[in-house]
Parts: sequence; C-alpha cells; structure tokens
Amino acid sequence: MPCARCVSGNQVEFPSEIAIHFSGRENLTKPHVFIFPKVIMRLDCGFWRFAVAETELRLLREGSSLRLQLSCFSLSTLLQ
Ligand SMILES: [Zn+2]
Repeated sequence: MPCARCVSGNQVEFPSEIAIHFSGRENLTKPHVFIFPKVIMRLDCGFWRFAVAETELRLLREGSSLRLQLSCFSLSTLLQ
C-alpha cells in the first residue's frame, strides 16, 4: 500500500518497543505503558504507523481516564 503522505511504496516492517508516557505534571509519577507493535516504516519520508493491542489500549484508556478524572476534580476545586 503506498504512503498517504508521499505516495512511496518503499516501506519495511520492524518489531519495536515503545514507552508511552501520560502527559501533565499530575502524571509525572505514573508508570509509562510499554507497547510492542510491529511498525510499518516508510523509508522515503519517515512516516510510520502501527496498531496497538487491545490489552495495551486498555492500559492507555485507564491511564487517560484517570487523568481526566483528576482534571475534572481540579476544575471543580477551582470553582468552589
Ligand atoms: Zn511517505
């Protein structure tokens, strides 16, 4: 499948490991989530893509929803 950015078909699949960090100061102590996707790398433009496994997605969703809950708590605290 050609690249959507540069239309090149020059691509390679790599095994990988990626550490995803949750953004925001409130998440500085939260452990990052390791994912191990097979990455499709476009060698002409550097664009890459991968799919995240369901178990890893769940960890990311749970970490993100915790952040949203903390943000809502902070907002409600400010409104008092
Ligand atoms: Zn490309």
